[in-house]
Amino acid sequence: MVISMKKSRYTVIFDVEDGCLVYNTCNGVQAFIPSSEFNLMQNIDRLRNGQIDRIDNETILQAFCVNDEVDEIAEFMAKYYSESFDPTNLNLIIMPNNMCNFECIYCFQDHDKKHISDQMVENIIAAVKDYHYKHGLKQFYIEWFGGEPMLSFSVIQYVTNELNAFFDKQGVNYHYGMTTNGSLLTSEKIDYLLANRFDFFQITVDGGPQTHNHYRPYVGGRPSWEDIANNLRYMKTIIADYNVTIRVNFNDEIFEDLNSLLDFISSELDKRFTLFFHGIGKWGGKNDDNFDILNENVEALTRLLLIRDSVERRILPKLNFDFFDPMNRVCYAGRPYHFVIGSDGKLRKCSEETEEGDTINVIGTVENGQFEFDRAKWSAFVLPGGGATLHQQCIQCIHLPICCGQACPKNRVKNGGKYDCPTDFSLMSEILYEKYKFMSALYNDIKTSL
Ligand code: SF4
Ligand code: SF4
Repeated sequence: MVISMKKSRYTVIFDVEDGCLVYNTCNGVQAFIPSSEFNLMQNIDRLRNGQIDRIDNETILQAFCVNDEVDEIAEFMAKYYSESFDPTNLNLIIMPNNMCNFECIYCFQDHDKKHISDQMVENIIAAVKDYHYKHGLKQFYIEWFGGEPMLSFSVIQYVTNELNAFFDKQGVNYHYGMTTNGSLLTSEKIDYLLANRFDFFQITVDGGPQTHNHYRPYVGGRPSWEDIANNLRYMKTIIADYNVTIRVNFNDEIFEDLNSLLDFISSELDKRFTLFFHGIGKWGGKNDDNFDILNENVEALTRLLLIRDSVERRILPKLNFDFFDPMNRVCYAGRPYHFVIGSDGKLRKCSEETEEGDTINVIGTVENGQFEFDRAKWSAFVLPGGGATLHQQCIQCIHLPICCGQACPKNRVKNGGKYDCPTDFSLMSEILYEKYKFMSALYNDIKTSL
């Protein structure tokens, strides 16, 4: 029987300067076809024009076409539900305090010096164990967040020691990560973390010493760049498998000062240190009037230039690239078995803690040594569309497999079902092209070194 094929509704073709990029937002396959490849280009034209029966390249058919009968939306949503509604994979963000040793200009948090109580720490450990007995955990992850989580290092160490011993006995796969300002990651602490399954760190460095020390000083104004750089230098000496995402919050001023940061990364660090560029916003902090931000369009283009600079230096802007992978734009708040536990011990979906937001965001508690939450509040976050059906515009959208309408579930719930589309989809082709250039430069480097 001859199987009739059609172009996948999720295949997108972008013309770029020296060829074309083909990307399928559902299976994540990306190909670059150079203009010089006449036969392949002819096949891409056939793909573009729906002349699928004339395509004679098996790879193009497999990657970018589907069986004529397939309902791709239904098939994708079935995959989404079966993969994300898996209770054996539990992820937590724990915020052990609401304190910080930095005074970043754009910070929106109100540091009220709250920190998690000993009782709450015991409750969390008991709740994780109880969850395992009920659901048979296979995968477990904690991301420590704050405030500044390293100000609660003894809590991190205690929870890690307790859970590692438990999971090792139970045969559960587990690992940890941390979002930290990086100033307290001294050698002894780094040794402990890397030896105890911490494999991901997000550390913000806003450009070179000049801008970083202006935007992210210690409380009282002391510069912090050199301390962070020294900790990163030490980290690099450790043989271990981890990723440090260096986050750069940028505006015009930080963009101008980026070269010294790129010089530092390329000359003193290695491939485990990657970049993530994110525009500074007026996020509701007390200094919002005291710094400039870029408007939405300029911000997107500046991000692209920063990505290009980092690609030229062979530093991977990993998160910016990963954003276009299937399901990668679903915020953790939209993931069913992902919870945030604040220093107050409340169970939230989104990490934002505000009096108004908490009315929808606090869904339960672990104070009785188990995960207890309101199913209706939970469903509003975790069901794409907030209920039984997807929003019509998401159903039609080629980006559905990337964000599933879940880029910011908190805003969707807050705004009565109105969803936020990620703004950078408009630059998808440019960013994917940079990704292709990065990968081929890496490939050429390896080839020449052999
Ligand atoms: S939220 Fe926007 S980008 Fe995402 S699937 Fe829906 S319409 Fe598309
Ligand atoms: S504000 Fe929106 S995008 Fe940010 S963590 Fe909360 S739900 Fe996610």
